[in-house]
Amino acid sequence: MHHYSLLSAFRDAIRCISPSLCQICGEALVYDAQIVCLSCEEDLPVTSFHMQKDNPFTDKFFGRINLQAGASYLYFTKEGIAQKLVHQLKYKGKTKLGTSLGQRYGHVLKESSLFKNIDLIMPVPLHRKRLRSRGYNQSSLFAKGISETMDIPMDSNNVIRHRATKTQTRKTRLERFQNVDGAFRVLDPKQLEYKNVLLVDDILTTGATLEGCSKELLKIPGLQLSMATIGFAYFQ
Ligand SMILES: [Zn+2]
Repeated sequence: MHHYSLLSAFRDAIRCISPSLCQICGEALVYDAQIVCLSCEEDLPVTSFHMQKDNPFTDKFFGRINLQAGASYLYFTKEGIAQKLVHQLKYKGKTKLGTSLGQRYGHVLKESSLFKNIDLIMPVPLHRKRLRSRGYNQSSLFAKGISETMDIPMDSNNVIRHRATKTQTRKTRLERFQNVDGAFRVLDPKQLEYKNVLLVDDILTTGATLEGCSKELLKIPGLQLSMATIGFAYFQ
């Protein structure tokens, strides 16, 4: 048998046993625990924000929110790898992808001195109507992966989005900020006093959503805030 056909027969055999495909190129995966294939793995546009106290992430909040630390796992560009992954996660029901990305980033954050001493991981909540229609909160899945890997508890109930906000996608910068202002509420602030909280979201663009949520959290005495997202977008 020719070498090439042997290889493709092997690939076909793997496709049969393993239903998992690379979330980027669609190639069959050898290990079920993988989310992307080895060649796409090398192409992941990872940031090194977790190594820098001041970085493009914290710059977006400079003068607006007092952040202990802030970092994103991947650079998010239009049509890029991070956009593909987040699209699968948000709109294609790929829930396992969310926790896998969280676990991966959890390992990265564990190595960073900037993310030591976190007491609690909190995902930015969705409004209950959005949660019902999507069936899950993509940021909660990412947060869950981080929480498991860093061995830090997660709280996804104490902050709620009590006002349904329209999708941010087609809004101007100013509209985005007005859209989320006052949309969040902390149910039991006492529980969060003097806690070091890591607030987690899917993508950082203008920062309007994270800022809206942070403003509520930072009203709580002694609360210290850090942030992490899957993607970081330079464009707004
Ligand atoms: Zn691939």
